[in-house]
Amino acid sequence: MNSNEIDIHKELKKYFGFSQFKGLQEQVVRSILAKQNTFVIMPTGGGKSLCYQLPALIQEGTAIVVSPLIALMKNQVDAIRSLSSENGIAHVLNSSLTKTEIAQVKNDISAGITKLLYVAPESLTKEEYVQFLQSVTVSFVAIDEAHCISEWGHDFRPEYRNLRHIIKQLGGDVPVIGLTATATPKVQEDILKNLDMSNATTFKASFNRPNLYYEVRTKTKNIESDIIRFIKQNKGKSGIIYCLSRKKVEAIAEVLQVNGISAVAYHAGLDAKTRAKHQDMFLMEDVEVVVATIAFGMGIDKPDVRFVIHHDIPKSLESYYQETGRAGRDGGEGHCLAYYSYKDVEKLEKFMSGKPVAEQEIGFALLQEVVAYAETSMSRRKFLLHYFGEEFDSETGEGADMDDNVRNPKNKVEAKNQVVQ
Ligand code: ADP
Ligand code: MG
Repeated sequence: MNSNEIDIHKELKKYFGFSQFKGLQEQVVRSILAKQNTFVIMPTGGGKSLCYQLPALIQEGTAIVVSPLIALMKNQVDAIRSLSSENGIAHVLNSSLTKTEIAQVKNDISAGITKLLYVAPESLTKEEYVQFLQSVTVSFVAIDEAHCISEWGHDFRPEYRNLRHIIKQLGGDVPVIGLTATATPKVQEDILKNLDMSNATTFKASFNRPNLYYEVRTKTKNIESDIIRFIKQNKGKSGIIYCLSRKKVEAIAEVLQVNGISAVAYHAGLDAKTRAKHQDMFLMEDVEVVVATIAFGMGIDKPDVRFVIHHDIPKSLESYYQETGRAGRDGGEGHCLAYYSYKDVEKLEKFMSGKPVAEQEIGFALLQEVVAYAETSMSRRKFLLHYFGEEFDSETGEGADMDDNVRNPKNKVEAKNQVVQ
């Protein structure tokens, strides 16, 4: 099949009910249909799944989708099945399947029914599965969350390093599609190198979030009253406050409650029931504020979060971008306020000192970028986007005036470790 012969808009409507592609999706789909190695970099929520799901559904053979989380795979398989009357259209292959279930999966693939096969990277290394996949038609291999291949990414998975080797065993000409929301040039290089796909056509969406306002305040001992004042000025709006430790989460939640602000705590030390309850309370707007560790937010889709406060600095700009990205999903205002003190940097460095040296070095380097961001007097948006390898015109770019440095230019302050001039 040739991409020119297929009306991909019609297929988009037929399978997903959408009348338009989002952003770069159409170009990506055409690239995959043309059997090219393809590299997709789009922010979270950008619509990466569809980029490989649609070509998989309309092509011959089975697409193998590598994904790091079993829960994520199950969600996707359920979603695909709901688009079709054929249950076997998508399957997950993992260690929890019974022999009978595995036989069913293999049957459906051999019969050409299965269009998408989700596998965890460690399952894909199993000799038995590799042999089986060699005997069937594989349309392409999509590697979701491809940053897991890089030690510079926020979620390094050593198993991802074996993928290139396995894909080669499937036959030299199987196209590879890498997808990630990690935009740092270093991670991208690592992905292309490790997947041996330097010839890939790369599609990179902009990471600019023009509706987010970025601000950094010096952290003083008055931080709690400062936060309370901020929240009271934003009465009735939903917000998230991120803290480094569980203890701090509890303490801040309590201070807010005492001061008449409806807030709940969220961290991995709470039991699952309490966590779910607090999350629901936030989603249902029974409370205005959730005070949380970074355990909160993965997969949370509340469109009208109006502010994200970092009580403590994040460990990398990548995390900062992800965490602040939970504000203003609906396109409305989103205030991203971070408190910064060098003491916190030292604290984080101390935390890391117990780790293996290589990991420490990466951790320190990432942290230095956060320091530079906090101390800069230039456009914060320009700084962030530059970090992601993206040029931003701080005079005419979208959202150019949406940060403290641009609105209230300081006299050039002492800014250590500045990386961007
Ligand atoms: P990502 O993996 O990039 O974070 P997802 O693939 O999970 O993003 O998609 C995010 C959301 O965008 C989903 O709710 C999806 O249904 C929606 N979406 C994807 N493509 C389109 C489109 N062409 N039109 C409208 N909504 C879309
Ligand atoms: Mg995704």
